[in-house]
Amino acid sequence: MSEIIHCLAVTLLSLGLIQPETPRQAAPSVETYRGKVVSLNERLKKLGVALDPEAGLLLALETDRGQVLPLLRDSGSLMFFRDSRLLDRNLEIRGRTLPGTGLLQIISFHALKDGRRFEVYYWCETCAIKRLSLEKTGVCECCGGVMELRETEAP
Ligand SMILES: [Zn+2]
Repeated sequence: MSEIIHCLAVTLLSLGLIQPETPRQAAPSVETYRGKVVSLNERLKKLGVALDPEAGLLLALETDRGQVLPLLRDSGSLMFFRDSRLLDRNLEIRGRTLPGTGLLQIISFHALKDGRRFEVYYWCETCAIKRLSLEKTGVCECCGGVMELRETEAP
């Protein structure tokens, strides 16, 4: 297991070396995964791996089958990078593993509780605005008020 995590770290750190002219491959298929989003920073720390502080937060999906898939940081995963309350929770994620990178791109996800699926989002009561991730400031971009983390059962 620790070898896998170490390999992942090496892969992540070498991402900057990927050539932009790499030929495009066929779009990978979207799959459904179950598991938890976890911080790789904490795991690397436990392994005694000194991560450069500029590497920032590294997250991965640990599937219920024990697979560890580092997350592509894009709009689909931003919510997890901005809000640690969403880490280490049971999730059902639709996403795709991008060929040649080992990175998981999240398309959508639901929180799982007692076998039920919940939509997770942020809500400003004042503006009645729904958002799928927090602004960097953590407050509503419209009124500056609190964005409340909400979970409603998916239909
Ligand atoms: Zn507002």
